[in-house]
Amino acid sequence: MAYLSDPKETIAVLNRYHFAFKKRFGQNFLIDSHVLEKILRAAEITPEDTVLEIGPGIGTLTQALCEHAKQVVAVEIDRTLIPILREDTCKDYDNLTLINDDVLAVDLHELSRRFGNCRFQVVANLPYYITTPILMGLLERRVPLKNLTVMVQKEVAQRMQAGPGTKEYGALSLAVQYYARPYLAANVPPNCFMPRPGVGSAVIRLTPHPEPPVAVSDEAFLFALIRAAFGQRRKTLVNSLANAPELSLTKERTAAALAEMGLSETVRGEALSLEQFARLTELLS
Ligand code: SAM
Repeated sequence: MAYLSDPKETIAVLNRYHFAFKKRFGQNFLIDSHVLEKILRAAEITPEDTVLEIGPGIGTLTQALCEHAKQVVAVEIDRTLIPILREDTCKDYDNLTLINDDVLAVDLHELSRRFGNCRFQVVANLPYYITTPILMGLLERRVPLKNLTVMVQKEVAQRMQAGPGTKEYGALSLAVQYYARPYLAANVPPNCFMPRPGVGSAVIRLTPHPEPPVAVSDEAFLFALIRAAFGQRRKTLVNSLANAPELSLTKERTAAALAEMGLSETVRGEALSLEQFARLTELLS
């Protein structure tokens, strides 16, 4: 069987179906077999796994996933790709279920129930325009997950695994690290895709925590604090929180809580760890 990670094969399929790339769907297809292997290695798929692939494209990753997993459920928004997958590139795999839909509109809890109450191995070369809603949707809604191994924009991967005091550290770092342990598996240059994206990419693996690493009585308040703290990055934390009407916090109250934590009232949000945001939540909520 000819694999699509060979660029000649990809071009042949695209020509056979007169396929035109749609920028609005973030279509940059993988054309590098080494990168494909790195994704598979990072995902550590076993023959017992049910894989959820988001955006199979013409099936480059899908073929390999079907060969390693028990079953693969692939959700693709672009209906013009469905006949290519069904009648051509993935026609030989009877462990593949194709769903033509917007992944953000699919009830993934229901999908897990339909596939034997599985914990999904999520593997995807994600459409970059909706990376954060897809990943945060999976984590926040607590979709049953074993691991997520995804290609994202390099800068987004760096933000996900950044720690306090770095310029990449922000609300995304804290949100991701509250739910999962990030591991950067590979950096991927633009020439590994067709068409080439304007940015570098990276493969990141997120392993969900069985329990969040910090315990808070009000999760929504923790995330509201984090959003407010990084909404106005240049300001002190005391000022950023006072400027967020939904929190109803005076400068004095935040300053007193920071003092109790042994922190200066001029500290900025970017200096606080997840543990410190959790402690602040308990003092202020
Ligand atoms: N997996 C293929 C590969 O690696 O070559 C394609 C990856 S491409 C970066 C992203 C894919 O996601 C495209 O096939 C695109 O049509 C699909 N896509 C974009 N938005 C989507 C959405 N909301 N739901 C499901 N699929 C989507």
